[in-house]
Amino acid sequence: MAGDDVPHRFIEVDAWGGSVMRRGDDGWCNALDRATLRCTIYARRPGVCRDYPEGGADCLVERARHGYPGAR
Ligand code: SF4
Repeated sequence: MAGDDVPHRFIEVDAWGGSVMRRGDDGWCNALDRATLRCTIYARRPGVCRDYPEGGADCLVERARHGYPGAR
């Protein structure tokens, strides 16, 4: 999105020509530290991630779905 400053190595182009976050074989964003579940580019994460509320209902559901305790 306009205004995003994501490091280029974490971006790829999808089938429709859009810039998206590159994913690993596990399907998760490559900027995610798998050991800590923290974003390694937090200060430069894209706007769509900034709009996703930490500890919000969707966040907690996803964490529980993957067997992790609640955020924070
Ligand atoms: S906050 Fe966004 S950029 Fe960071 S790991 Fe999660 S999906 Fe990737």
